[in-house]
Amino acid sequence: MPKPHVAVLPSPGLGHVTPLLELAKRLVTQFDLHVTVLVVTSTIPSPALSQLLHSPTLPADLDVVELPPVDAAALVTDEMQLLTQLAIMVEHSLNASLKSVLLQIGTPKALIIDIFCTQAFDICKPLSIPVYSFFTASVALMNFSLYLPTMDREIDGEFVDLPEPVAVPGCTPIRTADLLDQVKDRNNDEYMWYLHHVGRLPEAAGIFLNSWEGIEPVSIQSLTEHPFYRGIPIPEIFPVGPLIKQVECTAEMDAELINWLDEQPSKSVLFVALGSGGTFTSDQMTELAWGLELSEQRFVLVARFPSDRSASAAYFNAGSGGEEDGPARYLPEGFVERTKGRGVVVASWAPQIAVLGHVATGGFLSHCGWNSTLESVSSGVPMIAWPLYAEQRMNATILEEEVGVAVKVAAAAAVVGREEIERVVRLVMEGEKGKEMREKARLLKESAAEALSVGGGGSWASLAKVAERWKK
Ligand code: UDP
Repeated sequence: MPKPHVAVLPSPGLGHVTPLLELAKRLVTQFDLHVTVLVVTSTIPSPALSQLLHSPTLPADLDVVELPPVDAAALVTDEMQLLTQLAIMVEHSLNASLKSVLLQIGTPKALIIDIFCTQAFDICKPLSIPVYSFFTASVALMNFSLYLPTMDREIDGEFVDLPEPVAVPGCTPIRTADLLDQVKDRNNDEYMWYLHHVGRLPEAAGIFLNSWEGIEPVSIQSLTEHPFYRGIPIPEIFPVGPLIKQVECTAEMDAELINWLDEQPSKSVLFVALGSGGTFTSDQMTELAWGLELSEQRFVLVARFPSDRSASAAYFNAGSGGEEDGPARYLPEGFVERTKGRGVVVASWAPQIAVLGHVATGGFLSHCGWNSTLESVSSGVPMIAWPLYAEQRMNATILEEEVGVAVKVAAAAAVVGREEIERVVRLVMEGEKGKEMREKARLLKESAAEALSVGGGGSWASLAKVAERWKK
């Protein structure tokens, strides 16, 4: 008897592929399903993505099928916003090949899509394939997104100009300054794409959330207790998080870094990384390096090639650098030598899960992407929150004000100065506040492990409920 077969379709970008791949792995290893992960590919190479999708450790019943690549150069330009680029590439890819690929792989029992792949609703309907949605960001953003079509109908003008924080029913109000980039300019294509995709969320057969009650109790309760938004029913929700990737160190560089961490005292190292795409300007990189040096703390710095054009410059080609001549070139003169022994500089990419899980790591300066957030709290590591793009400002505020595991960098000017960086680094690594945040993060680590525990955890049970449905 062949195993029940389902397919998973992430949007491009590591922050999307990683959690959907993790969901696929769990469906295979914990629930004995056959899963095909369909990957939207383009002509932009991403070494980090390629390593993830071709890992020798993927389980046997998990197939990765790459959709024919779309010609990124012909479709998108650097001037387009990140989401516009992503949505256009996905639309072309799915129109060109999703139907035929679904038929080729044998019409799966269900398709689980990422938020920016909603075209799949139209393609799967005639094939009678139920489509589930997987929301890769916070539940707070999910609530806001369900409310967005109502806001779009009822509010004139820009949301960022509203006099009060946005009061999403049942949720903590969102300060207008924290709203995600995509809704800051309603005349921009990015807004149109975001509204279009989230507006279709109610069509899903169910929605998976990469979160759990331990970190977002209010937002999750709001969804379960108010299953209607203005008369529109919300699909059944399944909190299955935190789904984060497993430790994997392959490169020689990684081993060197882990060996160095092995020699450092417990909880003494600050890890600095800005997700798959986050990029500082040259001036900001200089101030960051000086701030780290002045703080006199141990550190691992992922020093990506700076960009004065975009804070998400590396998003589509994560891990491919531009740092060939070495980061010393764009760090302050003598920085690498002066901090030798106390700090390690890595170009472009580090094995984040392994670093966060290492006993020597005591803090994480992060752009607060949702995956990085889940990875940090799952390792019990407090954060310095330095949001850069998308919904990261919202995440930073939740982490500082509701969860209590982060402190935000005070960004009073376009470039955050070295003194402020020194202040927050010392605060988290050696201050009382750091201790308090570390304790809260430790409790969240326990709560995350409990939620995922096979047989009894809430997130495991959520996934089991759907998996059993597909097995019938
Ligand atoms: N990541 C990594 N090494 C790095 C930087 C990032 O492995 O040097 C991984 C990180 O572990 C996370 C993902 O890239 O799983 C970034 O996802 P996130 O949602 O935090 O941010 P995004 O890249 O979507 O902005």
